[in-house]
Amino acid sequence: VARELPEPQDTIGKKGMMSTRHDLTQIQLIGGDLSLDFVNSVHDRFEEPAEDYLGDFADLATWALVAGGISSEEKRRLENLARNNAQEAERVYAEALQLREAIHALYVSLLEGTEVPGRDLERVNRWLSGSMANLVLEPRGERFEFAWSEANYGLESVLWPLTRSIAALVTSDRVDRLKQCPACGWLFLDSSKNMSRRWCSMETCGNRAKARRFYQQSKS
Ligand SMILES: [Zn+2]
Repeated sequence: VARELPEPQDTIGKKGMMSTRHDLTQIQLIGGDLSLDFVNSVHDRFEEPAEDYLGDFADLATWALVAGGISSEEKRRLENLARNNAQEAERVYAEALQLREAIHALYVSLLEGTEVPGRDLERVNRWLSGSMANLVLEPRGERFEFAWSEANYGLESVLWPLTRSIAALVTSDRVDRLKQCPACGWLFLDSSKNMSRRWCSMETCGNRAKARRFYQQSKS
């Protein structure tokens, strides 16, 4: 059953989006980075309306687990919190979609060499400082590891790992490998040696393009 998303206030407004139920455990994670996979929870980016895989907060939590952002224990915790505060869950969900579109805008500006819209950068930065304030060190064996503080754990915590991942990616050399699938607009890091990867995945967009080429050749 398709249903409309709540009317977004700013960043999403440009393009229509439609949410349909998806089996999120089957979602393709081809981005090579959590923040890219998050952006790719819309398919496809060139369609009108685009299809949104995330229909509510529960979807967001399931997606975060499948994509490797949170543990199953965290997911259970988030679901409990959401059950006890449906309104807040709805708000965080709406914010998550706005953050996702802001992250998308950041990556697209990198790809196109254009200036990132101020409000998108602001939104990402706001989430970045909010999230990083909850980063703590935890002893692990002979070293320490980053962990998320228990003190402020809440519904918004579902987005903490994401904001950390976008910050890490855009400040590293890895971002030089950022590409956009010409068929569907999904973003990914090309980890091939000679940077020859073109499609998000050969099984979907790559094969479709091949079939189209074959059809056109056989016609002429
Ligand atoms: Zn594609």
